[in-house]
Amino acid sequence: MPGLHHVVIVGAGFGGLSAAQELAGAAVRITIIDQRNHHLFQPLLYQVGTAALATSEIAWPIRFLMRKRKEVTTLLGTVCGVDMRNRCVKLQDGATVAFDTLVLATGARHAYFGHDEWEPFAPGLKTLEDATSIRRRVLLSLERAERETDPARRAALLTFAIVGGGPTGVELAGAIVELVYQNLVGEFRRIDTRKARVLLIEAGPRLLPAFAPDLSAYALRALDRLGVEVQLGSPVTDCNSSGVRIGDQTVAADVIVWAAGVRASPAAAWLDAPSDPAGRVKVEPDLTVQGHPEIFVIGDAATINVWHGKPAPGIAPAAKQQGIYVARTIKRRLRGDSQPRAFRYRHAGDLATIGKRSAVIDFGWCKLKGWLAWWVWGLAHIYFLIGLRNRLAVALSWLWIYLTGNRSACLITQVDHNPKSP
Ligand SMILES: Cc1cc2nc3c(=O)[nH]c(=O)nc-3n(C[C@H](O)[C@H](O)[C@H](O)COP(=O)(O)OP(=O)(O)OC[C@H]3O[C@@H](n4cnc5c(N)ncnc54)[C@H](O)[C@@H]3O)c2cc1C
Repeated sequence: MPGLHHVVIVGAGFGGLSAAQELAGAAVRITIIDQRNHHLFQPLLYQVGTAALATSEIAWPIRFLMRKRKEVTTLLGTVCGVDMRNRCVKLQDGATVAFDTLVLATGARHAYFGHDEWEPFAPGLKTLEDATSIRRRVLLSLERAERETDPARRAALLTFAIVGGGPTGVELAGAIVELVYQNLVGEFRRIDTRKARVLLIEAGPRLLPAFAPDLSAYALRALDRLGVEVQLGSPVTDCNSSGVRIGDQTVAADVIVWAAGVRASPAAAWLDAPSDPAGRVKVEPDLTVQGHPEIFVIGDAATINVWHGKPAPGIAPAAKQQGIYVARTIKRRLRGDSQPRAFRYRHAGDLATIGKRSAVIDFGWCKLKGWLAWWVWGLAHIYFLIGLRNRLAVALSWLWIYLTGNRSACLITQVDHNPKSP
């Protein structure tokens, strides 16, 4: 199809995949480039990190998703630049891919507020590798505690600190505390996992700042009931091999998880475009780069004030809506209508779960909390998974955990074969 308009989509996350799906049937050929071979359902990553779900239940090979779309070519590769003059993207291996229209949907990663040296001690949660690494750290820490004779060292091995009280931090804390206080009880002989400390550290005055204050207060009470120690107004000042430092207090902890900040992928640098402090490209109202109507940036990599004068939030529905909008704009242009129309964002609501029996949902016009919110949260997430097999698998895994308390994915993988390791 060499004569067809060529759309290159970089990143097959929520934004890029939605653009590709919405372009079905259009007179275009599409090349999707991603540095990973799978699309990932990030909202359930924390469940892989806490041994509730297996990796294959929340990720799908992009090639498989696009197998029936003959006009779509999928390439595994890492983009490292854009040659705007010659209209091509540059890959790390030196290859180039020419485009007529470019959609950059490369997302964001966690950020350490200028302290990248904290990352080895406090990994974030963004990829499947991050999730299995957190699962390994949590389970290894328990294994080491089982063999530790020094009480202070054992206490550090049984302390799990999560930095950041947004939805990811709240969900991780709830899931880790249930793992150690309920699911693993009775499996160890020398330690009582119910003696573990799960700490959630938040710099701001309340948890879930994007939610209504009464829902934040509910989340705090629900976590407290589960046994999570929440520290509010506590900016972290250091993370190192001994633990986490909050002000002048050090908490000895072997497992620290970072759920605090995000930094956009380097799309702004590739395009030499203006960006906000988190590195997101400041896009035009039609999501294009200033002076380049053929280049769109969407999702977590972009910022635009379309939500009551504020930027669209960094959540999956915003990225999906932008992907669909871009695909429709491309189709309109191919029909000869080049009149730019502004992207409009519709906010569906904010959701966060607290353990396996409680959640908070803020639709704006209606707020839900407790078990009813948990059911709405669960059904929404199952609905948004791709394919019947995964929906059934996740629903079955949750039902199994709910009824029996057994988490089937308590596997330590990618172990460091150091003779000192257990
Ligand atoms: C742990 C976690 C939990 C979350 N929970 C929720 C939730 O409950 N609800 C919600 O709505 N949102 C949630 N989010 C946010 C949501 O996942 C993001 O807003 C959404 O994924 C953004 O979509 P995107 O398409 O912009 O980027 P992504 O979905 O991150 O996709 C980016 C893609 O680009 C690829 N890529 C990146 N750089 C390159 C490169 N240089 N070359 C090639 N490919 C590249 C990546 O491999 C990836 O496939 C969560 C995020 C995380 C990390």
